[in-house]
Amino acid sequence: MHPVMIIFELALLVIGALFLVRSLTPIKRLILELPEGNLKKRWKILSVLILFFIICYIVFGYNLWLIRETLNSLSIVVSIMLLLGGVFAYLVGQLALQTTNDVKDMAILQHESITDALTGLKNRRYFDQRICEEVALSKRYKLPLTLMLLDVDYFKKINDTYGHTVGDEVLSNLSKLVLEVVRDSDIVARYGGEEIAIITPNTGKAEAELLAERLRGKVEKTTVAMVGATQEIVQVTVSLGICSLSPVITDKEALLEESDQALYLAKKYGRNRVVVSNW
Ligand code: GH3
Ligand code: MG
Ligand code: MG
Repeated sequence: MHPVMIIFELALLVIGALFLVRSLTPIKRLILELPEGNLKKRWKILSVLILFFIICYIVFGYNLWLIRETLNSLSIVVSIMLLLGGVFAYLVGQLALQTTNDVKDMAILQHESITDALTGLKNRRYFDQRICEEVALSKRYKLPLTLMLLDVDYFKKINDTYGHTVGDEVLSNLSKLVLEVVRDSDIVARYGGEEIAIITPNTGKAEAELLAERLRGKVEKTTVAMVGATQEIVQVTVSLGICSLSPVITDKEALLEESDQALYLAKKYGRNRVVVSNW
């Protein structure tokens, strides 16, 4: 074969091998980012295979050089295929990393779109959507469903006395406390400024009242913030209004209205208490 063609074939192989080497960079980053498990293991196997291919390219190129006098045009086709193989591995590595990053960004965006930034609880939009779904599910499967509305007592006073930043800290710590007390299947959302809504699926009035009472008692005993150099202890109390689905309370609107009415009564009767709707 003509020496120029031999150089051309070897150049194709070198470029192919370089693409293979470049494909290892995104794959290495993927392996670092992935949690321990099967997927990580598979990417490691793939990177070992790519290393093996790089060695094969070098050995093949060396052999081409040794038999350069007797080469025919088929060897060019093989060299082109090997170059394309290198490009293929490079694209797979790049696309896998890019796709992983995009999926991660999408998951973060989705999480942010349903989460309240200050408290980390679900936001009002998520609550509005879930309450409809939970009411429909409970009605279809004839399961109990209870809604609790929690409001911090005299919260304006906390803001006025200690400032808005401490008020924010109180809300954030209170939210953590609520999440600790409720079940994982309960839906906890920031309903308004310092109001939290808790949807408790498959939970009747009596059970929900016990939960609300436990929550109220725990909040009362907890230090929700410390202020200034003296580390003054800030404590709050909460009032809760509870309402369950029943033959009278049959939709989301009634559930919300009655929980709100029960909360209003809890405030009226002196705060730091739980009131259950009669309906
Ligand atoms: P009540 O016992 O009747 O509930 O009294 P309250 O003082 O808590 O009354 P109200 O519910 O009317 O006041 C809520 C206050 O919560 C008013 C508002 O300034 C404050 N607030 C609402 N959202 C936030 C917030 O994100 N951060 C802080 N620090 N304060 C907030
Ligand atoms: Mg309040
Ligand atoms: Mg309020």
